[in-house]
Amino acid sequence: MRHFAIVGSGPAGFYTAEALEKAYGEGARIDILDRYPVPYGLIRFGVAPDHQSLKAVSKRYDKVAESAGVDFIGNVCVGRDVSVPELLELYDAVILAVGAPHDRKLGIPGEDLRGVIGSAEFVGWYNGHPEFADLDPPLDGARAVVVGAGNVALDCARILSKTRHEFEGSDIVGHALEALDSSSIRTVTILGRRGPHQVAMTPKELGELGHLEAAVPEIEMADFPPVEADEPLEPGLRKSVSILRSFADLPQDKPKRMVFDFFAKPVRIEGDGRVERVIVERTELDEKGSARGTGETYEVPASLVITAIGYSTSPIEEVPFAGGKFVNENGRIADRLYAVGWARRGPTGTIGTNRPDGYEVADRIASEMPPGTSGDRAGVEGLKRLLDGRGVMPTDYDDWRKIEETEVANARPGSPREKFVRHEHWLQAIGR
Ligand code: NAP
Repeated sequence: MRHFAIVGSGPAGFYTAEALEKAYGEGARIDILDRYPVPYGLIRFGVAPDHQSLKAVSKRYDKVAESAGVDFIGNVCVGRDVSVPELLELYDAVILAVGAPHDRKLGIPGEDLRGVIGSAEFVGWYNGHPEFADLDPPLDGARAVVVGAGNVALDCARILSKTRHEFEGSDIVGHALEALDSSSIRTVTILGRRGPHQVAMTPKELGELGHLEAAVPEIEMADFPPVEADEPLEPGLRKSVSILRSFADLPQDKPKRMVFDFFAKPVRIEGDGRVERVIVERTELDEKGSARGTGETYEVPASLVITAIGYSTSPIEEVPFAGGKFVNENGRIADRLYAVGWARRGPTGTIGTNRPDGYEVADRIASEMPPGTSGDRAGVEGLKRLLDGRGVMPTDYDDWRKIEETEVANARPGSPREKFVRHEHWLQAIGR
């Protein structure tokens, strides 16, 4: 029997478990550990609540969790409750699938002012992440700025602009729905430090903006090169650019605006105790296609600034870490220690990108420890003894299902569930 520990129960962790299960069948026990008693990481806490079709991928992970060789072990924080070297003693291989939950910083003056928040915090707040339940983002001003030209920036801008009615069928948490419903924000400015040809926004996500109930996107045609210049673009990007261009034809007849400000790099954030404005420098592209400041600056008033400029992984003691992710070579960090997903590659790609990534690492493990061979590790029994000695009480599959059933049973009309937003709520739901 082989024993494998996957740390992190998001898409990368589940695809890797699926691949290991396929490779080893009954010859392996696969434990998926998570610091929370409920799984699915990015699917639960990251994917926008109004994108339920993307969340449906969790049905595939449900099947993995239900398979005989796979166990979900929640409420265990690796690095705090158990170390990676200890896991390596107990398991034949340890795979880190912890994602990239931290915001990258802009590194400009004023970033610490009240009202400047990272997208991980804001997204966590509206998705019921327990660390951000008390975020209370300031929604009392008329203007917000979102920094970044990627899909996360789009998510944040869209969530700020939707009506209560548009959240029907979503699993946005109650506290965020109430706060957004009484928000005073009327203009969301999206700052892209480069131009429309350099956006990291995908067509489907951009297309949604043209159909919002109370908000309309706005672009400046002068930011765009002549239309012929779109021709050589990669098809997905070309589509994104053509959707952006089409925004010019939309009637500006809705109360809220989403203003795309391209070639605009924030250089300073100012305010008296809380953010009041962003000082932005006009940019142009240099020879390498990077943003180069032109020296011309202007200010964008805002009482809320959300930075959506990428994420980094949490370091774990005794695991080599550099550049926001674990140091690895094609997923291998050290002997019997691997990384998958954003912890391996950095925060890029779609949910589906994690599938080949997880399968590749599982293949590698299978070639190093061929199915049919056996190790002499203690696996989950040893882990449970160790945790018991430390007073840590792991949760299991049944606990997770009970929490989920309670969330679904408590759902308000129009929502698939009412998510618990605090760790102790999860534990109360299972009588802990
Ligand atoms: P991203 O796609 O890498 O976009 C980050 C954006 O931040 C880029 O526009 C980048 O501009 C900008 N940026 C970086 N540093 C900056 C700085 N110092 N100042 C100003 N702008 C800066 O990252 P993301 O939006 O966080 O998304 C992460 C991944 O999740 C992506 O693969 C994304 O597609 C995916 N995702 C998908 C969906 C969906 O499919 N619905 C939703 C959310 C996220 P430069 O290009 O100039 O560096």
